Amino acid sequence: MIQLQDLFFQKFISKAEVKGAVNDVSLKINKDYKEKSPVFLIVLNGAFFFGADIIKKFDGTCEMSFVKVNSYEGTESKGAVSTVMGLDTTLKNRDVIIVEDIVDSGNTIEAILKMLKQEQVKSCKIATMFYKPLAFKKNYPIDYVGMEIENDFIVGYGLDYNELGRNLSAIYRLKPRKMKNIVLFGPPGAGKGTQAEYLKVKYNLVHISTGDVFRYNIKNETKLGILAKSYMDNGDLVPDEVTIEMLKAEVEKNNDAQGFIFDGFPRTHSQAAALDSFLAEKGEGINGMVALEVDENLLVERLLQRGETSGRADDQDESKIRNRFNEYKTKTAVLKDYYEDQNKYFGIQGVGSIEEVTERLCKVIDNL
Ligand code: AMP
Repeated sequence: MIQLQDLFFQKFISKAEVKGAVNDVSLKINKDYKEKSPVFLIVLNGAFFFGADIIKKFDGTCEMSFVKVNSYEGTESKGAVSTVMGLDTTLKNRDVIIVEDIVDSGNTIEAILKMLKQEQVKSCKIATMFYKPLAFKKNYPIDYVGMEIENDFIVGYGLDYNELGRNLSAIYRLKPRKMKNIVLFGPPGAGKGTQAEYLKVKYNLVHISTGDVFRYNIKNETKLGILAKSYMDNGDLVPDEVTIEMLKAEVEKNNDAQGFIFDGFPRTHSQAAALDSFLAEKGEGINGMVALEVDENLLVERLLQRGETSGRADDQDESKIRNRFNEYKTKTAVLKDYYEDQNKYFGIQGVGSIEEVTERLCKVIDNL
């Protein structure tokens, strides 16, 4: 298994199989273009290995040219294709072979064929290393195909994920994640605990509230509880080392979980980084941070009200509550940027009835 940024890939097609497929395509092209001098039009960046290999194996005279188009972002084809580098030579009356790394929706090929339409080429064929017949939505014949694959997202032999993985000589396919891991985020009193109770049932996830785990330990007077108590009572954060180890232990207790709702964790940048690398070791990651956004003054009111019944020392004193907000603003709020940078931040209006807020959360979580 290999990791490229946040995703994991498993070996799918060996280097030898790739070589065999390239050979087969080359033999066919050599046979069909025996008496001709074709122009190989290589579609950058992905097809540069495949293009180079079939040109090296071409027996007669030939030329090569390059175009560069862009249709992928991450693992999704955007649909719209933009030309980054167009034709720099005339192809009038030439036998053109378009060389692609992969044909899936057909949008890229369509854009290139459009480009060639004005060129009055003599003939035009398409050679691709990989072809996804299940994804192909167009009617053009694909003349030379190295290998057909299903709808997998692959990297290697020129194909990339966010520009990475092109240099791999074997082909790797995206490993499907088994878990849905959600970070439920928001300032103290935003309603994370209440919402987690619904969400864990609906999505069959294990809910880990670090605050609850600390409180359980305090009640049972464990070593961890005794250590955490002084911090919690003052509304300070418990030190990272302690909290991270505790969180890991809670995850390990639920090895067969379909995923987790992390509530009250991560609360610092280093907790977020530790969570990412801990999940990465399992081939998993965070699907998204869903954040309940509520105005601070409303929250103080809510917490003081909760303090009347919750028995929590940190809910009963306004100065302690203000300190928790201060901790939130100085150490925790930055995590919005941490997840936003990964396109994983989803802010949700946290004011409304419990049902309304749940509905808003579900709309986001359904798509994660
Ligand atoms: P909560 O129930 O989430 O409001 O948490 C109550 C208190 O537990 C916090 O004010 C902290 O003292 C402590 N705590 C909970 N989660 C964490 C965390 N991830 N990092 C540090 N301290 C935490």
